[in-house]
Amino acid sequence: MAKLVVMASKRQIFVRDVPIGGGAPVAVQTMCKTETANLEATMEQIRTVADAGADLVRVAVPRESDADALKTIVKQSPIPVIADIHFNHTLALKAIDAGADCIRLNPGNIGGREKVAEVAAKANKAGVPMRIGVNSGSLPKHLHELERENSVEALVQAAVEFVEMMESLDFENFKVSIKSTSVPNTIASNRLLSERIPYPIHLGITEAGTKWTGSLKSSVGLGTLLADGVGDTIRISLSTFHAEEEVKVGWEILKALQIREKGPVLIACPTCGRLQFDMDTVVAEIERRLESYEEPIEVAVLGCAVNGIGEASHADFGITGAKNEGLIFAHGKPLRKVPQDELVDTLFAEIDRSLDRGKVEVDESEAAQGAEWLARIEEESAGELTPERIAAMEAEAAEAENGDVTAEPFLKPVTKSPEGKSKQLDEGDSPTAGRRFTRA
Ligand code: SF4
Repeated sequence: MAKLVVMASKRQIFVRDVPIGGGAPVAVQTMCKTETANLEATMEQIRTVADAGADLVRVAVPRESDADALKTIVKQSPIPVIADIHFNHTLALKAIDAGADCIRLNPGNIGGREKVAEVAAKANKAGVPMRIGVNSGSLPKHLHELERENSVEALVQAAVEFVEMMESLDFENFKVSIKSTSVPNTIASNRLLSERIPYPIHLGITEAGTKWTGSLKSSVGLGTLLADGVGDTIRISLSTFHAEEEVKVGWEILKALQIREKGPVLIACPTCGRLQFDMDTVVAEIERRLESYEEPIEVAVLGCAVNGIGEASHADFGITGAKNEGLIFAHGKPLRKVPQDELVDTLFAEIDRSLDRGKVEVDESEAAQGAEWLARIEEESAGELTPERIAAMEAEAAEAENGDVTAEPFLKPVTKSPEGKSKQLDEGDSPTAGRRFTRA
């Protein structure tokens, strides 16, 4: 399986004990939605996001009372705390005194070089790193014309100017962020920025939206950059009071790209007209129960047994359902057949037992019954062209076209023209031709 090469930044910084950049694992962060000075609510949210897997948490510090509360928050927080400061450099100074593990500020909105210098000097002395950055909505005036001509170049230029300002202040303990509400601009500007600076880069899409749209925008934007090897820490911005949802989405992006491992991976077929049980409910229940597992097990859910275990054979565990019964399988081999309403409980009993004992235990006679059941269903539906079988046939045909395979592909969806060029699949020959239009 292809592995992504994570290039990351050349420089590394530490936010308390969490390394950022320089090849460290991409850190997942989120931001508390609570009023920071409300200690009880803030600490509860910090514990919740830490449990969900946040490596770092940011809190807003817009008032003196928030800076005061930081003292306790930093002491009690199980993960490093970043103080988010805008417009008021005095609060940044107080946050450093309060023990904040990192200060986030945009040098462009803090009141001029002198004030940035004051914060940088104090941060240097205290060994506190900073996140500096630019937002697309607040670029310095001298870049407005460039912004109109080339908004990406203007964003990158602003970030590079701030980097140079920090370097001229002898402060190099920072990471950089460029935030935009536009996914294409976020991708283009961060790609460019990563070529121009050696510092760690924080990725995020500003005001990404609700759980649904925000997760998608972030997955596309951050996923593209991370796949390029750009980005050392990420935050998914979602319009929800449940900050742990941001953490979960962040982890799913990293897991999908196989950049980091955390907990189980659930795979499930998309379902089709062959589905024989209430898979929506079953998948949701399995997903819910898997949340309490730390182990990186892969669990597959198939909507029918028509294809056998097929494409899910690499999964550690799985189920495939039929009308009244279903099959539990492990590593591509049947384990046991159970009544349908016991599928989920039995699946988790098998998972728990294997985790306890360090291996999957197979009852040979139950496994044989399961294999027989599966073989019967496969035989009964041997002529059915499922999405999985069509994909397998297409793969077989493609391999044959490459000339390595002498056997005739069953479907011949791709053939060679006399000139040797590929011809498109003939819709008239295709078993799926017109299906989507004719189905009642
Ligand atoms: S044929 Fe494939 S997609 Fe359709 S229900 Fe069965 S496993 Fe799911």
